[in-house]
Formats: sequence, C-alpha cells, structure tokens
Amino acid sequence: MHIKFPACSARGRKFHLPLKVGSGENVPARGPGRSCPPGTAAFGKAMDASSHDVLLVGGGGAGLRAAIAAAEVNPKLRIAVISKVYPMRSHTVSAEGGAAGVIKPDDSLDEHAYDTISGGDWLCDQDAVEAFAKEAPQELLQLERWGCPWSREPDGHIAVRAFGGMKKRRTWFAADKTGFHMLHTLFQTTLKYEPITRYDEWFVTKLLVDDGRVQGVVAIELMSGKIQAITAKAVILCTGGCGRVFPFTTNANIKNGDGMALAYRAGAPLKDMEFVQYHPTGLPFTGILITEAARSEGGYMLNKDGYRYLQDYNLGKPQPKPVLRSMELGPRDRLSQAFVKEDQKGRTTQTPYGSIVHLDLRHLGEKLINAKLPFVRELCLKYQNIDPVKELIPVRPVVHYMMGGVSTDINGATPFAGLYAAGEVACVSINGANRLGSNSLPECLVFGARAGKAAALFAAEQNAPDGNVLAQASDEQRRLETQFLRKTGGRERISTIREEMQATVEKSAGIYREGSSLTEATNKLRKLQERYHDINLDDRSRTFNTELEAALELGFMLDVAESIVQSALHRTESRGAHQRTDFPARDDNKFLAHSLIYRNADGSSRVEYVPVKITRWAPGERVYGEQPQEKHEQTQGISAERAS
Ligand SMILES: Cc1cc2nc3c(=O)[nH]c(=O)nc-3n(C[C@H](O)[C@H](O)[C@H](O)COP(=O)(O)OP(=O)(O)OC[C@H]3O[C@@H](n4cnc5c(N)ncnc54)[C@H](O)[C@@H]3O)c2cc1C
Repeated sequence: MHIKFPACSARGRKFHLPLKVGSGENVPARGPGRSCPPGTAAFGKAMDASSHDVLLVGGGGAGLRAAIAAAEVNPKLRIAVISKVYPMRSHTVSAEGGAAGVIKPDDSLDEHAYDTISGGDWLCDQDAVEAFAKEAPQELLQLERWGCPWSREPDGHIAVRAFGGMKKRRTWFAADKTGFHMLHTLFQTTLKYEPITRYDEWFVTKLLVDDGRVQGVVAIELMSGKIQAITAKAVILCTGGCGRVFPFTTNANIKNGDGMALAYRAGAPLKDMEFVQYHPTGLPFTGILITEAARSEGGYMLNKDGYRYLQDYNLGKPQPKPVLRSMELGPRDRLSQAFVKEDQKGRTTQTPYGSIVHLDLRHLGEKLINAKLPFVRELCLKYQNIDPVKELIPVRPVVHYMMGGVSTDINGATPFAGLYAAGEVACVSINGANRLGSNSLPECLVFGARAGKAAALFAAEQNAPDGNVLAQASDEQRRLETQFLRKTGGRERISTIREEMQATVEKSAGIYREGSSLTEATNKLRKLQERYHDINLDDRSRTFNTELEAALELGFMLDVAESIVQSALHRTESRGAHQRTDFPARDDNKFLAHSLIYRNADGSSRVEYVPVKITRWAPGERVYGEQPQEKHEQTQGISAERAS
C-alpha cells in the first residue's frame, strides 16, 4: 500500500508564505505570562503553503469518486484530498441499505427518473435526474469492477431490493453494509493513482477567493495545529451533510454543514435549504438508523395498539408481503408526517426519549434477518438491548439527510468560477423536496465523477493562484488566533450555544413548520450568532484541539441553521419534506422553484428563486398505495417558467 502524506509529496508544490506570521505584525503579541501550552506551534515560523491543481475537500463517497475522475482526465494533474477525519471514517461508511440503479429487464431509466421526480414532489431538475438515472448503473458496475462485493442472486446476478417510493426493485446492496463496502472500494482505488495526495485529519476553515475565482483553502493540520494555505486551480466541496444542526439525528458528530457554510460565507448561494429529511425509523435514544431495507424485506410499522397505522394516511392497504410504493414502502416524508399525526391522536407509546412506534421484523425469521439485515440485528442488540428476531424495535423519526446544499449545475459547478460541489453538500438538484432512499450513494458517484471531470478540465486552463490569496490566508490565520486560540475573557460555552441552536431549529423547522415559530427562530439565531463571538475555549493547545474544532463547527452550523430557517420562512407552501401548517397546500404557480439563499455583505441574507427544470414530466399529484401510477401528463420539452 502506498500512502502519501502531504509533507513528503513530490507532486504538491510546497512553499512558504513570505510572511513572518507571529512576528508581531500579524498576530497579537504574546503578553507576559501567556505562555504557549505544550504542543503549541511555533509562531515565529513562516506560514506553510502548498499548491495543487484540483483540491477535494472531503474524503467520503463523493470526494473519492471525484478524485479518481479528475486523475483519469489528466494524469499530470496534482490532485489532493483533504479530510477532517481519516477518509474511511467519512460518513458514507455508515450507509446501510443500498444504492439505486436500473439493472433488471423489467425496469427502465424512465421509471427510475419518474419515481425520483414524483418522490421529490416535482422540485427536482429533470435534466439532472435523467442524467442521474442513466449514469447510476454505469457507476455501480464500475464499482463492481473496482472490487465492490455487491450481494447476488443465487444464479450470480446482482441482487436488488425494494426501497421506499420506488416502483421497481432497483436498489443494489452489499448486505446492510453498503456504504462501508463502497467507501472501501473507492478508497483502495484512489491508492493506485500516483497524483492523488492526501491530507488526512486536516480541517478546512476558509475558502480563498480572489478575482471572482476560488483558488484554495486554509486548513489546520489537527495533529500539530499548523495553519496552512493550500492553493488550487479548482476546489471541489464534498463535505457531506449537516444533520448535527438538529438535536436528534442519524448523522455523526462530523456532519456540521462545514462545506455549505464555507461556500455561503464566500458568497455562493445555497439551494433549497428548507428541505430537511426525517427518516421514519431511528432508535429512540441514540438516533441510530434502522435502515429502510428492514421495511423493504417486509417489516411492519405498528402503533401502540399493534395496528399498521400507515393505512390511515393514504399509503395503501396492508398486505402480508411488501408492496412497492405502498404502506411501509411509501416515501420518507409521508411516513414521518404520518408519525406526527399518529402521535397527535395519542396512538404512540410514550418513553423517556419521546413518543415511539414499533418496527416489527419478527415474522421475517432469524435466517432472513441474519442474511439480509445482520447489521440491524447487531445495532438493536448493542444499542437498544433487544433482539429483533423476537422483539419489536422502538423507532421514531430522526433527522437524516439534507436535500438542499451548495447550488450547482449538472456538472457540479457552482456560480463561482473554480468552485465545485458534489454529494450531500451539494444541491444539483435530483432530490427536490424529498429524496428517495438509496438515491444518495449513486448521486455521490454520478455527480462526484462529473464534478471531478469538470474541475480537472477547468484546472488545466488556469494559471497558478497569485500572492493575493496567500495574504488572505494570513488574515485567516490571524482570525483563528485572535478569535479562538489567543482570545481571553469569553463567557459563553460552546455546548450551551449548540444546544440552544439545535432546540431552536428543531422547534421551528421540524417535520411541520409555521411562520410565527420560524420568525421567532430567526431572532433567536441572530442572538446566538452574537453570543458566539463571546465563546470561551479552555483548551489552547495545538495538538488535536477538539474544542477548537467544535467551536469552528458551531460557527458553520449557526450559518447553516440560519439558511434553513430563512428558506423555510420564505416558502409559503407545503411540498415534500417542507410542511407549513399555515400554508398546507402545494403552490406550483408560485413555488415550482428552487430557493437560493445568499449572504449579503452586511451579514444578512436574501432569498431568491429560480425555476425548476422540467423536461418530460409535468407536475402531478403524488399518489401512493394501490395505484402506483400517478395522475400525470407526459410532456415534451416544457421548461417551468411559471415560477416566481
Ligand atoms: C446512517 C446513514 C445511512 C445511510 N444509508 C444510505 C443508503 O443506504 N443509501 C443511500 O443512498 N444513502 C444513504 N445515506 C446517505 C448517504 O450515506 C450520504 O448522503 C452520503 O454517503 C454522503 O456522502 P458524501 O461523500 O457527500 O459525504 P461524507 O461521506 O459525509 O463525507 C464528508 C467528507 O467531508 C470531510 N469534511 C467535512 N468537513 C470538512 C472540513 N471542514 N475540512 C475537511 N474535511 C471536511 C469529512 O472528513 C468527510 O471525509 C445514509 C446516511 C446515513 C447517515
């Protein structure tokens, strides 16, 4: 195995800023008695900088796929992947259920596209969805060639399982550890590309922008605390989602919306941030996901009376075996909304961790559970102390996925020259108002590859970044020093602000929203932003300073929280995962449109709208249950200019 580290990379040019950071001119002098604790970096040293052609921020599914694509376009490019955790710890590793892609003879690309578009409540850009449906199977097959051990039918064909909102079985899986196998395959494949350098456990704090072009980042090497400029001709954000903005989520601590905030602060718009996905089946205390695969294999959702309550919510009638696009295989937004209604009717069970319903897998039998859902059993045994072979699994909706993100075109390009985004951090948009389960992993592959190619082509035609960005890097270093590491006298605790922010966002922008609570949340978040400037860090050391990381992540999350609440406030309709109790109907006349939220120079925000791209499927009613065909017209080449 050939692992390269940036310090010994022959490909990434390494140089020193001509600035004596810490000489007294750029950072506050270290006063008497304020000695640096052990592990403190030497401030008298010049700030390091290194340079690449294409820089990936993020080493998850999207980032690694993009890195491979860039390397394949041009083997001479110097490519770098920077990740705040070791790449195999990126959140892609936790994906369980599978990845959608048409592979069986009874299926078609159009059906996948249609399921995705109707599942997204017609807010998806249909050109992007068509490209996605076409390229997803190619990407999944490519992964197979790179070594991904897809589960198989007894005759050796690729096995596929049903997933919510899909009218055909098209979800490829590797047992219920799909993300682990996909990430492992991508990771080992990157190792064979000599031009790919890795910065493992480096934390990006800022994008460097000059002359309207993104030209690199500033990052902290977590092991040493060194702050460094890493310049590049093109930067691709692949930093994943932002579930941690909410208190109860399937997302690990690393998912703080860093990339969304980095782009937003630099002036790039965030698209459709009001659309936050709740997954209907999280374990009540931990928020650990029980994958949709459990329902696809035949699991039942039961209320406190043991009744399959989804039949009361326009999702079809109960059948002993799973029926596609029906009941437990309905889309996630509708199932999570049904839970809230069921709770309001008093038909859920109360626990110390909130109201719950049950997922029943007992009738599937031990053999099937062990073969197809081994991880579900393991998680239930370890984290809930129950065995799903014999017992009901308590579950409740949990924040899971962000439909919105950095606005990109179909090739991952943002409106900013040199800045690309792919994966969960981005909004292309193929997910619209509600993502269908198992579309995200192939989205990382398809649009990761597209962004990697586009960035490589762009980079090949650019000049190297100039000195202006290095001056900006030194400003950023000064900010990190003065605002955090050398600051004295802060009164606020990071955890207090984080908890207040999470409670505010959950209360105002949860499964159901209302104008008055969103307005209240706007004011509260503004105050939290002010209080954030008064935080206090106990840890001033430079070696793995997790408190500093938490502070920086909180800053990112506050910006993302603001963008969610503002976008939700402005969309006065209900669509997919965005349900306004004060505007309960979908309003295609006004809101068949993507929201774009921008940060203004004075720190305030503004929301604008751009039309959804419609190619062949005119908006229709979403119908689940017995009639799998929605009432919809097929149209040719319509572009939705109806949007406001
Ligand atoms: C529990 C769970 C199960 C799921 N199951 C499925 C499934 O079965 N099918 C499906 O289609 N989807 C599933 N999803 C969704 C899917 O897994 C994710 O959307 C997808 O993996 C995101 O990949 P990504 O590459 O965009 O980001 P991630 O894999 O989250 O990677 C983000 C990367 O960015 C880096 N990073 C972030 N911020 C910084 C920073 N400031 N500086 C440096 N690096 C940074 C991180 O270190 C990491 O390497 C699941 C999600 C969860 C939470």
